[in-house]
Order: sequence, then C-alpha cells, then structure tokens
Amino acid sequence: MAIVGHGWPIYSRLLGRDCSGRTLQSDDAVDATAPWSRDAEGRSPASHQLGHQNDGPTCVPVQEALLSLTMSLETLWSVKDRMLQAMRKGLNSRTHAQATVRMLPTYICSTPNGTEKGDLLVVELCQSHVRTLWVTFLGDGNQSPHMMQKIFDLPRDIMQGKGEALFDFIAQCVRHFLAGISSSQHRLPLGFVFPFSCRHTRLDKAELLSWSKGFSCSDVEGKDVVQLLQSAINKQKLCNVDVVALMNDTVGTMMTCSMGGKPCEVALVVDTGTNSCFMAEAQQVEMAEETSGQICVNTEWGYFGDDGTLIDILTPYDQRVDQESSNPGEKRFEKLVGSLYLGEIVRHVLTALAAEKALFIGSNTAVLRTKDVLKTQQVLEIISNEAGVTNTRKILGALGLQPSEQDCFRVHHICRVVVSRAAGLCAAGLAAILSHMCQSRQLKQLVVNVGVDGELYRGHARFRKILQSLTEVLAPECTATLLSSVDGTGQGAAIVTAVALRVAAQRHEVNQVLAPLRLSRADLERVQALMRREMELGLGRESNANASVRMLPTYVRGTPDGTERGEFLALDLGGTNFRVLVVRVAQDGIRVANEIYVIPTTVMQGTGEALFDHIIECIMDFQLKQDLMEQVLPLGFTFSFPCQQLGLDKAVLLSWTKGFSASGCVGQDVVQLLREAAQHKQNLGLKVVAVVNDTVGTMMSCGYDDPKCEIGLIVGTGTNACYMEEMRNVGTVEGEQGRMCINMEWGAFGDNGCLDDIFTDFDRLVDEKTINAGKQRFEKLISGMYLGEIVRHILLALVEKQLLFGGKPCPKLQTRDIFQTKFLSTIEIDGLALRQVRAILQDLELQASFEDSMLVREVCQTVSLRAAQLCAAGLAAVVEKMRENQGLAQLAVTVGVDGTLYKMHPTFSQNLQQMLRDLAPNCTVTFLQSEDGSGKGAALVAAVACRGADPRGQPPQ
Ligand code: ADP
Ligand code: MG
Repeated sequence: MAIVGHGWPIYSRLLGRDCSGRTLQSDDAVDATAPWSRDAEGRSPASHQLGHQNDGPTCVPVQEALLSLTMSLETLWSVKDRMLQAMRKGLNSRTHAQATVRMLPTYICSTPNGTEKGDLLVVELCQSHVRTLWVTFLGDGNQSPHMMQKIFDLPRDIMQGKGEALFDFIAQCVRHFLAGISSSQHRLPLGFVFPFSCRHTRLDKAELLSWSKGFSCSDVEGKDVVQLLQSAINKQKLCNVDVVALMNDTVGTMMTCSMGGKPCEVALVVDTGTNSCFMAEAQQVEMAEETSGQICVNTEWGYFGDDGTLIDILTPYDQRVDQESSNPGEKRFEKLVGSLYLGEIVRHVLTALAAEKALFIGSNTAVLRTKDVLKTQQVLEIISNEAGVTNTRKILGALGLQPSEQDCFRVHHICRVVVSRAAGLCAAGLAAILSHMCQSRQLKQLVVNVGVDGELYRGHARFRKILQSLTEVLAPECTATLLSSVDGTGQGAAIVTAVALRVAAQRHEVNQVLAPLRLSRADLERVQALMRREMELGLGRESNANASVRMLPTYVRGTPDGTERGEFLALDLGGTNFRVLVVRVAQDGIRVANEIYVIPTTVMQGTGEALFDHIIECIMDFQLKQDLMEQVLPLGFTFSFPCQQLGLDKAVLLSWTKGFSASGCVGQDVVQLLREAAQHKQNLGLKVVAVVNDTVGTMMSCGYDDPKCEIGLIVGTGTNACYMEEMRNVGTVEGEQGRMCINMEWGAFGDNGCLDDIFTDFDRLVDEKTINAGKQRFEKLISGMYLGEIVRHILLALVEKQLLFGGKPCPKLQTRDIFQTKFLSTIEIDGLALRQVRAILQDLELQASFEDSMLVREVCQTVSLRAAQLCAAGLAAVVEKMRENQGLAQLAVTVGVDGTLYKMHPTFSQNLQQMLRDLAPNCTVTFLQSEDGSGKGAALVAAVACRGADPRGQPPQ
C-alpha cells in the first residue's frame, strides 16, 4: 500500500471502493514505474520495476531510500490517530501545557454572513515587509470588497531590534498609508495579521508566546501585542485607528474562503511552514473561557511530533534536515511538509545516494553539501514537468552536476516521493481535524469546506490531488471540499475584522433588547420584599381584600407524620388530566391505582350540573372497576382552582381558570356541588373529607417522605405555592393555636401594579393576548403556559431589528403559542449540538444559521433564568418568614415541588436553588420532587384529618 500511483488500486480494493477517477488512472500511467507502493505483503513493486530496468548493484540503495520515504496507508491512519490524540491533549486544560499541538483559541467565534459593511484597515507583518490594506465592504454578501494596498520593506535590523522600534515602524507604515487616503470615518477599525504563536484571551488581546521566522525583537514575548501596536499607533496621533482584532494567517485563509456565501470552517496553510485552524465547539476548547457556540482554534500543528510521536516515520534525511535547521528538535511535522524543507530533504537523499555511489557516478557532488542549494521550487519543477527527464537534467545541470539519464529518472522519483509524503501527511492531519469536528458535533456525516493556501498547494496539481483523495480515504465520514484561497491573509484579516465589528454591533443591540429581562440582585431583593409585604397584607384580616397574594387558608393543620393508615379515594381536577384514584396508605408505603377520564370541552364549558354529574359518573365507573362499590371510603378532592376555603371540606370557587367555565359554579361550595351530584346519581358511597389545592397535595405527599416538608411549589402550566403558617399570624381564621397551610395563590402577585417596573414590553404583549389580561401577572413571568410566548415575542423583535434570521420575515412565528415552552428545555440542554436547535426552528419554517441558533438559545436562557430567579425571590420571602416565625437563626426546610417545567427544564431547578441560597442565606432549603402530588396528596390530607380516628369514621372536627 502506498499513497499515490500504484498504491491506488491496491488500497482502493482493500477499502472496498472503486478507484475513484480518471485522473488517478492517468496518473498511474505516468507512474508506471513509480516506486510509490508496497503491496499487501510489504514487497515493493518498485523493486522489480527498478530492478528490471536497471540491473546492477546501484539500484538497491535507491530502492531503500525510496522505500523509507514511502508511507503505507496503515501508517497514515496511524498518523491521523496520533494527530487526533495530540489535538485532544491540546484542547484539554489539564494536558494543554505539555501538548505539542497547542490548539490555541483565537476568539474568532463567527464566520462572515455577507452583511458585513464599512471601511477598515489591515496591517500584515510579513517576513520582509509590512503590508497595509484599506478594505471596503459593501454589505453585498462580500462579493466584491474594494481593496487598496501598500507594501513597505521591513529593514532587517528592525526584525532583531527593540520591540518598540518594530511597532513604531508598523505604526508609521499605517500613517504613511493613510496619508494618501481621505476618509471621513471617525473610527477606523484595524485588523492585525501577526503570524506568530500567540495566546489569545480575546480577539483583541494576545500575548506573543515566541518569535520565529527570523524575528527576535526584545520585550515583546509575553506581552499583549495588540496593546503594543495600539500604543505605537496612538504615538503617531492616529487617534481614530482602533486595533480590534489580531489573527494569524491560517485564520485569514479560512475567512477568505468563507466569503461569497459558502461557509468555510477549516483552513490549511501549506507554504514554507504549515498550520491549520478550524471552527471547534467552544465547550471542548477548555483553554477558552467561551463555553457555548464555536471558536476558531489555531492548531499550531507544525509542532506535532516534537515529543517523539513521529519517530518511526522520520528518516535519516529528516534527522539531518532537522539538525541543520535553526530550531533543531522543533516543528518536526512542519519539517516533513513545509516547502522550506522539501528541497533540503531531497538534497540529503541525493547526498547520501551519491556517497553510496548510487547516483552521479563520476560527477563532482560537492555542491550538494551546501545548505539550501536545492530549492523546493526546483523540486516541484522537476516533478511537475511532463518533460520529466530533460527538465531534471537542466535543473541538476544548473547546480553543476552531470546526471546520467538514469540519475535524472531516479532524482525525479525521489522528488515525487518526498512531495507525495508531504501531501499524505497533510491529508492525515486534515482527516484528524475533520473526524474530530464530525465527532464533536455528534454528526454521522460532516460536509464542510476547507480553505487551503500556500505555494505548495496552489502551485502543484499533484499535491492537491493527493491531499484531496487521501483525505477522502482517511476521513470517510466527512465530505470536504477544498477551496483554494486567494490572498487569504489580506482579505481574510479584513473579513475577520469586519465580522468582529458586525458581531460587536449586533451584540450591543441584542443586549439592549434583552437587558430589561435581566434582573439584578437588587431587583430580586425588591421582588422578595414586595412578596413579603403582599403576604402580610394577604394574611391580615383587614388588608386581605387589597392584597394581590390572597393567602387562602386551607384548613390543613398538619403535615403527615408517617402514622397515617387507611384506604382513600381521591379526585384530581384542574391539572392536565382528570383522574380518579384509590390510595392505600400502609406501613410499607403508599400504593395508588388510578384511571384517567376525559372531560369533553362541552362539559368543561357547559353547566355546572353536567360537569359534576360527569365527575360522579367517572367515580362510579372507577368504583366498579376497582371493586369498591361496597365500601364508603373517605375522599380527598384535589381541586386546583382558586377557592375561598371555609373548612377542610368547604371551598367556594372564586374563579375558573385553565379553560374551564362551567356555569353556576363560581361562588358555590364545590364539595356541596359534588355531594348534590352524588345524590342525584344515587351514589351513596361517597364521603368527601377534604378539598385541597394541588400545591397542598404536593406538600402533603412529599411530607409523607420528609417530615421537614412544609412548603409546596408548583411550576407547571401555572405557578403557585403553599406553606405552613402560624395560626397566630392568620388574621382571616379564628384561633391562635397551631399552624395552618396557606395556599398563597402567588400567581396573582403583581396584579395590583406592584411589579409594573419588572414587566417588559414582551410581558405586556403576552398578557394582553390572554383570556385573563391583567390577572396572574407573576405567573405569566414564570410558568409553562407563558414562557414560550415570551420567547416568541422576543424573537419577533429581534427579527424586526434585523438581528435574527437575516431579518427575513417569519410568518409562522406570528402564530400564538407556536413556540412551546418544552422547546426551551430542548434548546437549552447543555452541550446539545446546535443542529437540534436548528431542527426545532426548521419545524417552524425558520432557517437558522449557526449564530441564529446561538441567539435563540440565549433568548430561551434569559427567559427561563428570569423565571427561575423570580420564583426564587418568591420562595425566599416564604422561607425567611417561616424562619422569623420560629425565631430561628437558621432554618432547615424542605419544599415539595411538582410541575413539568420544574421537572423537565435542564437548568430551571438549579437556577432557582442557586438564587434562593443567595437571597435567603440563613435558610437551608431542600427540594423534593413530588410524585403524583395531586393524586396522593389529597388522600394524605384526608388521612391526616382522620389520623387517630377510625379512618372510616368521621374526621375529628
Ligand atoms: P399542570 O400544571 O397542568 O398540572 P404540568 O405540570 O404537566 O401540568 O405542566 C404543563 C406545562 O408544562 C405546560 O404548560 C407545558 O408548557 C410545560 N411543559 C411541557 N413539557 C415541558 C418540558 N419538556 N419542559 C418545560 N416545560 C414543559
Ligand atoms: Mg399538576
């Protein structure tokens, strides 16, 4: 197996694919005698071929040299694996310091989207010159940026002098350049191309790690290069020039190839040196502070192998090239690939073969001892020319050698094998990047554009062909289109700068839109204090009528203590489903059997009589199925609508919600309505003991497992809370002794206007469209019925401001409730590949770019965070009040929680708990999720009421 020529049919067969094309066939023909390959047994066909044509002892060293430079496909697979490992080492914060492939974050987080617009400057520091560019983007999809440039020679002494002098020189170049251009722009952003290894901490903050390429200015290493350039520019009195981005050349290549609407996410430079970069998932780049989205990583893969990883593929020629280089032991991968070295590798092969009398017999080969006498350009000319031998003879002749025809033939092959090896290694590296991207994005198949720049790639078709085909072989799960970059660094730097400006401007606008939704700690403390005030008002006998938080007494006076026993019926009305349950509370726990019954909309919105008749019918059906007809079980009724409770089994409906509107019920005792219906239907086995709200049920069911549970919380369709209050504080019920559970009905908090400055325009839009406008204002900031709507309104505003979906109108997004709250959960899942966000948006007929997806996620996070924090502020008021009630320095209490939003959202509970710790530091609050609180809870209320009494007898009054 080998990397080109003869090898093709062999490994194509091994891989079970067809040899992929005409070009390779013709290449084969050209290479009919090429020594590129070994067959599966490791024999080199070259040995027969060269042997046939060139009988004699001299061919063996040539064969051996060629063989040592020929890489099998297995070796390339292994190089790819080693590169992947090295990359992972560089990305990991624990191993980063020892990594050879450093994977430096560049803080370039976006690729161009075509809307970039405006004038900017680029300064590029090159080997022997400084290039200044003026670039104008027209906002036309970057089809035709206008460019003007000027090149200034860089004196050699500056390259090795003081750092300050270098930056002063660069700033002077900028001043000279700008002197010839009239611009009215008050601020001129500048992108700085600085092709050395830097440690970025922002796009415009980068410390030089080490000089290379002949530069060694003092006092620059370890310093922020952007700062140095900006200071020098300020010294030149160019006060409108603002250095906004620093990047290396690889990144520029990627960005240039991203222009004209084809996003390009990988770049490769194969020039004198070699390097690559790609858009990585920020989460995996542990050295970067960014944790979401993507960030361009500069691999610095030239250093790959510096830890000895490549030892088995290095030939004696490579070792000599390395020893004679200015940085022995460093950049081992680059020295196999970069054009600075290919000529040198060939020279060492020729030198060795001449010494073994395998080449240039009778010729004076002393010239080959001179470093760099054979340029890579000449190597490329030797192999790129159809004329082959003639050309080789001319080039070797020019060096003063007198090659025979056979010498020319062999030199030609040596050159080919060296270049092919370089291309093969590049392909292995590229394949590693592609596979890494594919894996980390959790894709089965990655389709990506790869920008490539550099003489070796652009100038040499053979190199291109090998790179492309071998990349396909080594990363079969990826489809990479290689795009040749034109002036990658110049245009690229301009586009990086333009993108940075666009992103900064958009960020500013996005922040403005979202700012009202971001609550400060002071805001939340205020909400907590207001809630506390409303609670006091609600509890007071006189003030109750004016409180937005109604603080309804429940007549539940105790939580379970574990001694409850018995068998109970329970009803659950007012959640997502209507259910009938039988609950058995025994020593070994609680067992539940239940049936779900449908309440047709016609019944929900018909007469109260029909509704309660229907409920009784369902109970009778259940009793029949459960064989309970003969028994009279105590019944607990979870009725999750606001009620004025007058006793444990007496609850006057204050208002219907959640789509119910049965007539003749509001103002009536719902237990009485149920009893009347039972009589009407002649069901005599019904004994209603307690009617409870779902918050109370939740508290009670969690209280059975944890005696500290004295708070119930619901964050589902709506939100509400209850807690155990001291009777002496409950002005609305007679008696001072003991405690009673208070159903806060906190969803209505703010209905009296006390939260008006917290509400945003989005909240007002959501509220206006509800059936209960102006009511349940706190709930409308927090619960499942509304969060999706809030997000939808924000997205519409962002589209309107051209900050989302390219400002294209989104008709589907105009539909009420189309953005469901469950989408927030999916979109916010940590680490979830953004393609899932895209999939959700696609279902809404929204074409989301990567950045769109990021922004939608940010909106969802902002809305759900606010909800969780507001909920925490409310709870903080509750726990602090309970702590004060009990006169404790520190309170330990448990909250029983129910509701799909709380349970399913990936960060809601965490955010809630964290904020609560912050707002109520003297309370240790444990959260316990309730399982079927509204089912079990009602039964437990009945059980607690019956405690000590015969559960089948009358509860103590
Ligand atoms: P209820 O409050 O009526 O008893 P739930 O507790 O099941 O019902 O809450 C239903 C609410 O939960 C709905 O408003 C819906 O928007 C929301 N919801 C459903 N699935 C999810 C989810 N995966 N993440 C967040 N919210 C959800
Ligand atoms: Mg519920």
